[in-house]
Amino acid sequence: MVQSRSHTDPILEKSPPSLLLWGQPTPALKALAQSLSAVFQQRGYRLEPGAEAPRAVLNFIRAEQPTPYRRKAQGTMVISFLELPQMPPDPIAALYSYLVRALSNMLVVYVPGQGAYFLTLELGQYHEPEGPQFAERLFERIHPIASSVLVVNNRFEADLEPELWQGDTLTQSLSAAGRRLAEWDLLPAAFPIEEILPPEDLRHVKRLYGIGGLSYGNLSVRKDSQRFWMSASGVDKANLREIGRDILMVKDYDPVENAMRLSVPPGLEPRRVSVDAIEHWMIYREHPQVGAIIHVHAWMENIPSTQFNYPCGTYELACAVAEKVRQAPDPSRAVVGLKNHGLTITGHSLEDILERIEGRLLRQVPMS
Ligand SMILES: [Zn+2]
Repeated sequence: MVQSRSHTDPILEKSPPSLLLWGQPTPALKALAQSLSAVFQQRGYRLEPGAEAPRAVLNFIRAEQPTPYRRKAQGTMVISFLELPQMPPDPIAALYSYLVRALSNMLVVYVPGQGAYFLTLELGQYHEPEGPQFAERLFERIHPIASSVLVVNNRFEADLEPELWQGDTLTQSLSAAGRRLAEWDLLPAAFPIEEILPPEDLRHVKRLYGIGGLSYGNLSVRKDSQRFWMSASGVDKANLREIGRDILMVKDYDPVENAMRLSVPPGLEPRRVSVDAIEHWMIYREHPQVGAIIHVHAWMENIPSTQFNYPCGTYELACAVAEKVRQAPDPSRAVVGLKNHGLTITGHSLEDILERIEGRLLRQVPMS
């Protein structure tokens, strides 16, 4: 069963959670900031203007200069707000870079008279029209992100058995499955954060999260009762080769350090495991019959879905997905929708999953 979480992060021990307003809002955003912060306070957050390490930051940015809020702690979640006169026809193409440049977990584009458009790192996009209870509805959208906890720390231990340094038949099946998903055009290219972030911001992001890049989708395969192989973060899944660089051995989750534990070969600079390792870990530990897991940003007809839009790599998303897997008629062959995001599919093997989903995937994830 899933272990309970015990944290060392000072932010997460604090109660009530603190809220910081940041940046220079336009007049319209200023009014929105006031009504929104009132709702946050009604719902248990404490407005703390000088907070060193707030739980949530509402960061008001300008299109001409999307100034980031630089977190001092990983537990701080940043929601950036931008006012535009109208929404561009292709919001992801036009606005995703603002989300990244403002170093935010979520972007809210406010168009006066029309409402708020949300953009998430997982390429989620959805809309709340202006009208009654507007600030309350925005809060309901933001709170799952503001209150969730990332599990993106990695602890590398150079104790992988020498006979696994070059991989095994399971890592071969992982590489083959990555190639299949790429052939089906299900793995969008990693977002080039290094091209749009100034070097200083890139260093900041890497130091805080240790991420290698923003990519979408991941896959894993069970090794034994405790361990599983999984794709690395930010790599091209069509080309998974090197152990410790493209494919990682996940051996455990440490709830005290809130970190994934990884076994790697000695003498290499390891890459980090996919941020969804915590989700896969929970599912493997709970269901011994699950032999493999694939996550893609696509959809299937008639599937159960999680209720809230928790971000990738959070403990809350992992719990929500694990709950849906548990409720499936056969948890070892489950298909679970992640709201506004994609699919997590379990199977006895990677081949088993690919056979079941071939020709059934919808490229468009429904947004609500
Ligand atoms: Zn995802």
